[in-house]
Amino acid sequence: MVLERLEGFSEPVPEMEQYTTPPSVASELLYWAHLRGELERVCDLGCGTGTLAIGAALMGAEAMGIELDPAALLIARDNARRLGVHVNWLRGDVRSIALKRVPTVIMNPPFGAQRKSQGDRAFLQKAMKVGDVIYSIHNSGSEGFIRRFVEPSSIDEVRRVPFPLRRCFEFHSREVKTIEVELYRIVCR
Ligand code: SAH
Repeated sequence: MVLERLEGFSEPVPEMEQYTTPPSVASELLYWAHLRGELERVCDLGCGTGTLAIGAALMGAEAMGIELDPAALLIARDNARRLGVHVNWLRGDVRSIALKRVPTVIMNPPFGAQRKSQGDRAFLQKAMKVGDVIYSIHNSGSEGFIRRFVEPSSIDEVRRVPFPLRRCFEFHSREVKTIEVELYRIVCR
């Protein structure tokens, strides 16, 4: 309910696949990590307007958010300030930014639906480099690709959840379209 109050992207860029994680999906991911005792120190890659990082901070995590788009980061900062939580925001490109190791990476990376996007590969690569465990959101049907891509790391569990996608781009024809996404817990080696 608190995450429903956050401000989303003001001018989402389709090439960057900027859409906010719906609060229902964000809480599923965050409670999952919390119940496993893995929501103490987290890094949110491609944090956008901050939903996952702020949600983690609200649940007591020490949280960091990395984002390429300065406009999105401004909104994220503002969202955190309004809720009175602290998150370490960092502007940077996940493909090149140097990050210290962190126990848990949380992320809703670009799915690669738009051609120009790098998709989720660079995000998975960075997440495996810095994290012990990854909680990540991907479009449905990704399991085979992810299983091979993350080797020798491994998928521990996949959960399928509905993802209500609000109309945010010109080319979206319906107000809300519910798609199915996959939540992954990946253990890094
Ligand atoms: N995680 C946010 C936003 C998801 S959209 C949420 O859950 O609401 C994906 C985000 O990744 C966008 O904000 C986009 O700007 C960001 N992004 C795309 N490529 C990036 C890159 N190379 N480095 C850092 N952030 C990137």
